[in-house]
Amino acid sequence: MKIAEALELVEEKIQKACERSGRKREDIRLMGVSKFHPETDLVKAYNAGLRLFGESRVQEAASKIPGVISQCPDCEFHLIGSLQRNKVKTSLTLFECIQSVDREELVEELIKRSSAQNTSLKLLLELHTGEESKSGFQDLDALYKAVDLILPCKTLQIQGLMTMAPYTRDQGPIRNSFRALNKARNFLMQRYPEQNWSMLSMGMSNDYEIAIEEGSTLLRIGTAIFGAPSHA
Ligand SMILES: *Cc1c(COP(=O)(O)O)cnc(C)c1O
Repeated sequence: MKIAEALELVEEKIQKACERSGRKREDIRLMGVSKFHPETDLVKAYNAGLRLFGESRVQEAASKIPGVISQCPDCEFHLIGSLQRNKVKTSLTLFECIQSVDREELVEELIKRSSAQNTSLKLLLELHTGEESKSGFQDLDALYKAVDLILPCKTLQIQGLMTMAPYTRDQGPIRNSFRALNKARNFLMQRYPEQNWSMLSMGMSNDYEIAIEEGSTLLRIGTAIFGAPSHA
């Protein structure tokens, strides 16, 4: 299927899920997860109306982003994959937002580098909610500790939370995972009411309609838009 057609199909399903769950389409952002896909595919998606892209690896992103931005000036890139400390400096120049902030050591490096380079960066804190993926903060206490570290840092702006549900055909564990993220956000909103918690990044090709029903505000969709990556 062509990217423009695939995107249209995804858009239809998003709209239907919005209607089913009484949500407004404009309250949900759609990200195209473009890892393992060439620059030309991103440009095609951009020409079909997509503006937000997610990449998993810093090195791959660094080789693609400048070329894409030169053709698609108002597009935006987020990092959604695990970030090593020694790649934080490069990430600051590439991404508007790091969605995969998943451990204290990374938080410390982000604070240090963004302050030193005086570069502002948006962050989502990743919470571990499913059995399969290992990444993410393990519990609320770990999130609180991270927030307490980040809040005094003027260059970092927390915008919400991210999670990955288990990959399964069974809706139960997927819903539990999304509900756990929503619940964690409620606790954070109570504890840090001045803070912005608007972003709930959850929902991938396999489960985005469920994610909409469970309150997602940002969908990260790869395969359903770009097809299966050739070498993943
Ligand atoms: C790859 C990836 C996605 C997209 O997955 P699809 O199943 O291809 O839609 C979303 N989020 C994260 C964190 C990913 O690594």
